This record gives sequence, structure tokens and C-alpha cells, in this order.
Amino acid sequence: MISEAMTGLGKKRSTIREIFEYGNQRAKIVGRENIFDFSLGNPSVAPPDCVTDVINSFVAEERAEVLHGYTSATGLEWVRQAMADSLNSRFGTKFNKDSFYMTVGAAASLCIVLKALACPGDEFIVPAPYFPEYKCWIENTVNCKCVLIPAEPSDFQINFTEFERSLSKNTKAVIINSPNNPSGAVYSEDTIKKLAALLEEASKKYGHPIYLISDEPYREIVFDGIKLPFVTKYYRNTFICYSFSKSLSLPGERIGYVLVPDEMDDCKDVYAAVCGAGRILGYVNAPSLFQRVAGKCADKTADISIYNKNRDILYDGLIKAGYSCVKPQGAFYMFPKALEEDEVAFCERAKKYDLLLVPGRDFGCPGHVRIAYCVQTETIERALPVFEKIAAEYRR
Ligand code: PLP
Repeated sequence: MISEAMTGLGKKRSTIREIFEYGNQRAKIVGRENIFDFSLGNPSVAPPDCVTDVINSFVAEERAEVLHGYTSATGLEWVRQAMADSLNSRFGTKFNKDSFYMTVGAAASLCIVLKALACPGDEFIVPAPYFPEYKCWIENTVNCKCVLIPAEPSDFQINFTEFERSLSKNTKAVIINSPNNPSGAVYSEDTIKKLAALLEEASKKYGHPIYLISDEPYREIVFDGIKLPFVTKYYRNTFICYSFSKSLSLPGERIGYVLVPDEMDDCKDVYAAVCGAGRILGYVNAPSLFQRVAGKCADKTADISIYNKNRDILYDGLIKAGYSCVKPQGAFYMFPKALEEDEVAFCERAKKYDLLLVPGRDFGCPGHVRIAYCVQTETIERALPVFEKIAAEYRR
């Protein structure tokens, strides 16, 4: 007898992966250059030079058995201090090393925080559109209820009417993600303030803290000079789940952190629960070499200007072709409306042109499609006539 739930999850790939694998198969037949694959959020920009420099210098100068050895479960001290210094200098915060727990990317950060918090009967609120794995982790890693909030498609901020309705005595936490995958929306200061006020009020009403889990792998990828509100400044019971997957273009190396700010209620016990969760989930420690890379490169990013350029070309092209879309202010995703109500049918039609898009229902927002534009600019330029051709088909 094996777990039916796990077998089910193992047999069914995520829709995004399914489309990506389809693209790989098609590429073998028609050639990679003829596939317009916008399915996966895999950065197309090389990591900054400091990544290779740091790797080379540690390989040359550190004793190999130390470099590749276990680190403390929480992460190397100087690396955690570097995480604190980087945030403090950029966001005017006052963190110190003891608030950080190094992890195997944002996925691990989120699972660890869920595990640290979850008690039987707890509910976790997730505003749409959302990263699909949240639901999977809430339901399978911690066996809790995932309460989904419908999207606010006019601007992809939070639908507060629905949000207020969903708060209950069982609410343990809310997961937010800004800049957002899949919409590219950046939550405004007003949104964060309103969210903080509602959580404060609900925590008082129900007599226990309702935590905010801020999933921030796209924190550095913002456009138009936007200033991202740093969430712990607005709501003390906030966890930051961070990853260097996107900012440093290192998704395969699996490095990130959980931040438990000092201001959080019972922060020492919460931090201990994070350590316990990391242990019980079997992470042992975050990758040793890439902790060092993160420590030395925390203030650097890959060349984000390429995503900005891609956004502009894609957005202008789609609007010109008659699509309607909220202009993304960050991350590297666009989330236009499909040209028919059933966005799955729309994606199927696009597939006939080897244009690979992800249906919005996977992100809790049917009627839209996700375009991951972290691709070569040239791919976007060549795909725009295809988007136009499809739009013309619908006009006919
Ligand atoms: N959260 C969001 C919103 C993401 O888009 C991703 C990856 O694409 C993750 C978490 C997982 O990130 P990581 O690769 O660091 O585990």
C-alpha cells in the first residue's frame, strides 16, 4: 500500500510542466526555433558575473571538505548576516543574522513556513491569481484547507470584499506574492496597508495572530521606477520567503531563505518552529556553495533590463493586435484576457501555431492566459505576428 495522494501527484505533471514537455517534443519535430514556448518561468538571462567569480574564488581558496561539507541547519552565520545587511541597506530595515534561515529555494521556504505554522483544522488564504503550487503544498504538505479568493481582474490587486468574507477563526495565514506570478502586478502600498489593517483587526477578533506569508522571488524585478513596499514594515507578523532563483538567475541551484522578523509575536518560538520544520521536511541545510554565492551576491541581480524590454515589446504588440491586458509592473509574466471565454480552448488554438501559453484557471483565474516572457527578445518579436494571426481568426 502506498500513498494514493502522492501517486496521483506524481502521475499528473503540473499543467505548466505538461505544456513545457509538449514544447520539447514538438521542437524535435519542427525545430526549436519554430516553437514559441512561453510556458515556463525559467530565466533567459545569464547570472551576473559575480556568481562565477565567487564560485571560482571559493573553489580555489576554501578547503574542499569545508566548501562541500554540511553547514549549520540555519545556514552559515556570515551568509545570514549578509542577507540582513543587504535588506537593511536597501529597505531601511534593522534585521540581524538570527532572523534568517537559509533554504533550498522559495519552494522550501514556503513549505517550511507552512509546516512551522499548521495545526489541524487551520485554513490558509490565497488571493488569486496565485502560484499553483501553494494549493498543492497547503493541502498535501500540511493537510490544511486552502481558501482561494477570486481575482480582481481590473488591476490584479486583492479583491478585499471576498477577502474579508473568507477570514475566520480558523485562518492561520495569508499567502501573498508581489510582484505576482502570473499577473506581473505589484501590490501597491494602499493594498498592503489595507491588508495589514484587516489582518490586525481579525487577529484581535479571533484572539490569535493571523500571519502574512510574503512570497518574494521576483522582488528585484520591478519596472517603471516602482518602489516595492517592504511588507514587514506594515505588518509585524510577516514571514518573508525569498529565493535567488530569479534575481540571480539560479533556479536550478536552489537557494533562498525564510525571514522571521524580530517584531513578530513570539519570534524566538516561531524561529524554532521554522528550524523544526526544516528538520522534519529533511532539508538538513541549504546548498553550501550557493549559500556562499548568495552571501557575496545578495545586492546584485542578473540584467533585469532585458525583462523590461521584453515586457514593452510584448505589451505594445498585444495591445496593437487587439488583446486586453493589465500592464505588468514586475516579474516576467503577462496575463492577458483570452479572446474567448474558455481560455483552454484559446490555448489549444494557439498550440496549433506552436504558440505555448498556460491557461489562467491553473492560477485561479479563468479567462486569462499566462505568457512567461523570460525568453529571448527575438522569440517575442517572431511570436507577435502569430498573436496577430490568432486575433484575426477570432475577428472573422
Ligand atoms: N513562488 C513563486 C511565485 C514562483 O513563481 C516560484 C517559481 O517559479 C516559486 C515560488 C518557487 O521558487 P524556487 O525556484 O525558488 O523554489
